[in-house]
Amino acid sequence: STQVETHEFQAEAQQLLQLMVHSIYSNKDVFLRELISNAADALDKLRLETFVDKDLQVDTSDLHVQIEVDREQRTLTVRDNGIGMSRAEVVQLIGTIAKSGTAELLAKARESQESGSAELIGQFGVGFYSSFMVADRVSLVTRRAGEDEATRWESDGSGTYTVETVQEAPQGTAVTLRLRPEEADDGLFDYSSEHKIRELVQRYSDFITWPVRMEVERSDDDGSTKREIETLNSMKALWARSRDEVSDEEYAQFYKHVSRDWRDPLEVIAVSAEGTFEYKALLFIPSHAPGDLFAEDHRQGVQLYVKRVFVMDECAALVPPYLRFVKGVVDAQDLSLNVSREILQQDRQITLMRRRLTKKVLSAVKHMMSEDHERYATFWAEFGAAFKEGILSDAENRDTILEIASFASTHDAERTTTLRQYVERMGEAQRDIYFMTGASRSIIESSPHIEAFRAKGYEVLLLTDPVDEVWVDSVAEFDGKPLRSIAKGELDLDAEEDESAEPEREQRQEEFAGLLSWMTALLEEQVKEVRLSSRLTTSPACLVSGAHEMTPTMEKLYRAMGQ
Ligand code: ADP
Ligand code: MG
Repeated sequence: STQVETHEFQAEAQQLLQLMVHSIYSNKDVFLRELISNAADALDKLRLETFVDKDLQVDTSDLHVQIEVDREQRTLTVRDNGIGMSRAEVVQLIGTIAKSGTAELLAKARESQESGSAELIGQFGVGFYSSFMVADRVSLVTRRAGEDEATRWESDGSGTYTVETVQEAPQGTAVTLRLRPEEADDGLFDYSSEHKIRELVQRYSDFITWPVRMEVERSDDDGSTKREIETLNSMKALWARSRDEVSDEEYAQFYKHVSRDWRDPLEVIAVSAEGTFEYKALLFIPSHAPGDLFAEDHRQGVQLYVKRVFVMDECAALVPPYLRFVKGVVDAQDLSLNVSREILQQDRQITLMRRRLTKKVLSAVKHMMSEDHERYATFWAEFGAAFKEGILSDAENRDTILEIASFASTHDAERTTTLRQYVERMGEAQRDIYFMTGASRSIIESSPHIEAFRAKGYEVLLLTDPVDEVWVDSVAEFDGKPLRSIAKGELDLDAEEDESAEPEREQRQEEFAGLLSWMTALLEEQVKEVRLSSRLTTSPACLVSGAHEMTPTMEKLYRAMGQ
C-alpha cells in the first residue's frame, strides 16, 4: 500500500458528522438501512453501466449485498460487489456534501439546536455518515469496476479522514463499522447480533431488489449447529404488488429508501397501466417540502426503471415541474435501458405517461381535499406555492388545479378557502372575486385598499406567494366570476351595488373637480391621475396601479429576476 494521506472533511460535512456523533437523530437503527441502500444503488449503477459500456469486463452474475459480523472485534461490515468508487470519487463523495441546500439546512439545524434539528437532518438524508451514530471508527475499502487499484478510507468521525491506495481488493465496496462498546453489548440494541440485523433488514430493506445475505447459525434436528448463508430480504418490488397486499409500513420504508426522507409520506399513489405501453408507478407525496423546492437546481424526485432494472434518478420527463416534489418510481415495460434524458423528453409514450401520472397526483390531492382536510391542509402548506405554478404551466389541467387550490382570505384567519367556497359565500350584489397580492398577510390587511371591502363585508383573497402575481393575470375568471385585484384600476364599489348612486357620484365629482386637478398638477411627477375613490373609509388616500400595470410586488419580482 502507498502513503497514507490525511484530509479534512469539508466544513459542512464536519457539522453533519458532529450531529451524527452526538446522535441528535435518535433512531440509530437507520444506519443499516442507509448502508444497504447505498450498496443497492451501487449494484443498480453497475448493472446499468455494463449495459451501456460493453467493454466493461465485470462479472454481474451474482450481484448482492453481504453483511458480515465479527463479534470479537465488534465489527459489522456491509459489502457489495457493485460499481465501487475511484480514489477521487471517495474523496469527493464521502468527504463532502454536494447536495444543494444542505449548507442552508445545516445553518438552520444549528440555530434551532435541540428542538428542530432532528427534523432538519432528515431533510438532507442521514446517509453514509449515519454510521457514526453507532461506530467510533468507520473504514471503507472500494475498487471501482474496471479499475485495478483500490482505495481505503478511514475516519473516527472527528475532523479528518485518511485515504490510501491499496492493491488487493474485490471489486465493489465494503464498509466496516467498529461498533461502540455500548452498541454491541448483548443488549436490546446489539448491532452485532444476528437477530437484530435480521430484524433491521426485514423492517427497513425488505423490498431491496438485490439479495442481502448473511451467514447465520442453524441448529439441526440432531442438535448440532452449522453455519450457512441466508438471504434476509424478500426482494419483492413493491410497485409490482397490488395495493392491498402491501402494508402502510412497507410503503413507508420504501418511500424512505427512494426519497432519502426519514419521515412517513403524506400520500401513496399506486398506478398500473396495461395495454400497448405497460408500466407501473408508485408515487409518494412527502409530508414536508424539501429545502430546495424553489432553488434553481432543485431536484426532481421520480426514478425510472425498465423491467425492474434501475435506469435513472431524478427523471424530469415523468412529472411536470410543478409536481417536482413528488417522489417514487416508474417501471416501464417497453423502453430501452439505454434510453437518454433527451429521448425521454421527446417520446410520445412518455408524454402520455406523464399526463396520466399528473392526473393521478391531481386526483389524489382532490381526494385528500374532500376526505381528509387535515392532510390536505398539510399538503397545501408545504407544496401549494409550487403547485400553483401549474395554473400557468399546465393548461390542460388548469381547471382542476384551480378547483383544488386554496388561498388565504379575509373570511377566516386560520383556514384557507377554495375558489368554490368563496363563490358560494358571495352575496347577490357581488359580481367579482376580489383578491390582493402582497408580501404578507399583515401587509395586505393593513393596506388602505382593503378598507372599503372590509366595511362592505366583501371577502378578499390574500395572495402572498411570488407566483400569485403571475397566475392571477392569466386567469380571467372562475365559475363565471371575474377575478379582480382590489389594488388595480378603477374600482367602484358603490356602482357594484347600486346603479342609482350614479347622480350622487357625479355631483361629488363636480364638487371636488378643482381640488383634483390642482392635486394632479401638483403630483404630476409622481402619479398619473388623482381621482375620487369609494375604496377608502378611514384613510384619506391610497395609491393604485392601472388595470394593466404591474403591482409593486410584481415589479420587485421582475427586478429580482433581472428584467
Ligand atoms: P446519498 O446516498 O444520498 O447520495 P450517502 O451519504 O448515503 O448519500 O452517500 C454518498 C455517496 O457516496 C453516494 O451518493 C455514492 O456516490 C457514494 N457511495 C456510498 N456508498 C457507496 C457504495 N457502497 N458503493 C458506491 N458508492 C457509494
Ligand atoms: Mg445513501
